[in-house]
Amino acid sequence: ADAPQKSSPVEGTVQQAQEQAEKSEDRKKRVVILGSGWGATAVMQGLDTSLYETIIVSPRNYFLFTPLLPGVCVGTVEGRSISEAVRKMIVNAKSSAKYQEAEAISIDPKNQQVLCKDTSAISVTGKDSFALDYDYLVVAVGAETNTFGTPGVKEHAYFLKEIDDADKIREKVIDCFETACLPSTTEEEKRRLLHFIVVGGGPTGCEFAAELHDLVEEDLKRLYPECAPYTKVTLVQSADHILNTFDQRISDYATKHFLRSDINVKVSCRVINVTDRTLTIWDKWKKQKEELEFGVTVWATGIGTRPLVSDLMEKIGQSDRRALLTDEWLRVKGTQGIYAIGDCATVQQRSLVEDVTYLFKLADKDGDGKLTYDELAKVLSEVKERFPQVEHHLSKSGLRILLHDFAEDPSKITLDIDAFTKALSKIDSQVKALPATAQVASQEGTYLAKALNHMAERNIVPEGPMRIRGEGRHLCHPFRYKHFGQFTTLGGGEASVELPGDWVSSGRSTMWLWYSVYASKQVSWRTRCLVVMDWMKAALFGRDSSR
Ligand code: FAD
Ligand code: MG
Ligand code: MG
Ligand code: MG
Ligand code: MG
Repeated sequence: ADAPQKSSPVEGTVQQAQEQAEKSEDRKKRVVILGSGWGATAVMQGLDTSLYETIIVSPRNYFLFTPLLPGVCVGTVEGRSISEAVRKMIVNAKSSAKYQEAEAISIDPKNQQVLCKDTSAISVTGKDSFALDYDYLVVAVGAETNTFGTPGVKEHAYFLKEIDDADKIREKVIDCFETACLPSTTEEEKRRLLHFIVVGGGPTGCEFAAELHDLVEEDLKRLYPECAPYTKVTLVQSADHILNTFDQRISDYATKHFLRSDINVKVSCRVINVTDRTLTIWDKWKKQKEELEFGVTVWATGIGTRPLVSDLMEKIGQSDRRALLTDEWLRVKGTQGIYAIGDCATVQQRSLVEDVTYLFKLADKDGDGKLTYDELAKVLSEVKERFPQVEHHLSKSGLRILLHDFAEDPSKITLDIDAFTKALSKIDSQVKALPATAQVASQEGTYLAKALNHMAERNIVPEGPMRIRGEGRHLCHPFRYKHFGQFTTLGGGEASVELPGDWVSSGRSTMWLWYSVYASKQVSWRTRCLVVMDWMKAALFGRDSSR
């Protein structure tokens, strides 16, 4: 009598378990994407929504084409022309992702949940927050501007990150010109009001300074002729040259170009204080303070951590960092199912030295405890996908440079494990962190979408940390950044470009290249048309100087 009684509940549980397993297999895993910038939209566009339930959470319901933002401050392009609604992008990508206009305010990595809050003007009192469970979370919330704790920056300087910022700058600049023209304004005040300071000699700062200079030269001097003699643009940079992430030739060209166009460039100067009308800098060469009076100061430098990200870092033991540390599959270290891309994340490349014993064995095919030149060349090319840092040493000349310290004639070299370790650590020391650019963020997003699609299709996870070609399935290769070069505009109809393969060019023809590249990079035909029309409008009729 016992047996049937026992068997039926057991059978029942088996059946239930089976049903449940089927259900959970049927259930699409949920990907929650935080952000609507370069990284997040790239993930959305690539993610197969027949494989995943996808939810995008961002307080900004549009994507912003940031490289053209400096132009919005002066009216070369309109803010609306470089924004595209997230919902429209979802439809255009034939995706079935959902969008929620809210801010993620905290991530619970243990329970795999994000707490979100509606921070917009209309929110339902008492019910403005909700929790979202996730299987995979993509953190792509970007960064804040970093003031490096400089007093007065938050209160008195303008940032340049969002459309709002650009609109505020545009208003203030015009306000300065109009105020300077009033009969009650003294000459001294005029000089102050028409002094525009840009802090940060990176591409954003330089482009903004150039745009501002063009606005003044091409439009305002005509409209406010009495202001012309008082107008001045100053660029303050803490490093010893501007555009220091670019090739030296471009940096030199830009410096000369700025000097020619009367943009006052102050290098090796650190801002130490800002008030409503003065900016104090410390000149590292002259070892002295200097006070500059200004009408508008734009702070265009520094990457800071958003509160959401610092909060998560604290929870996962990364609190001493500025950006979330991920492995090469973009998984946030110390978490389950959390990925991070773009300005809020840094990829940590695994070092060769960590795997030196393994690599030595792999290389030493004859097992004599010594590596020949050929064995070394072979092993480097075998592991190049897992360790992209070996890339520069795959060629003969690259290998020669690497082995230069060990022998006169590298082709006759024999390396024991110590020498091999030294060579590998030399390669490791050349690994550089990826820059905080749109190019990096969108490539990371595209890669991540592919990797997630892959995972769902084959129902397997990406490789663990130690899989090298020839060993195990090579399912999903690590993320690898491909640099397509970088542009910067210099004002006066000139631009500079640096392309892979040491190709550098500056001048007017480069500006035409810039126009065509940036037109083609627009995210939709709508924004492409609007941007081109804005450029033509500005060229034909001048920039709009009404407030
Ligand atoms: P972002 O594009 O900044 O996107 C972050 C998103 O997250 C936003 O939608 C934001 O609303 C959202 N968000 C913020 N907080 C939350 C939250 N709590 N919850 C949910 N969502 C949140 N790069 C280049 O390669 N070339 C250039 O020419 C260039 N020019 C630039 C010019 C300017 C003026 C600026 C500001 C940047 C420029 N950059 C350029 C850098 C580039 O814009 C960034 O590297 C890029 O935007 C990083 O992408 P991201 O997805 O990490 O962040
Ligand atoms: Mg983003
Ligand atoms: Mg609302
Ligand atoms: Mg990054
Ligand atoms: Mg050997």
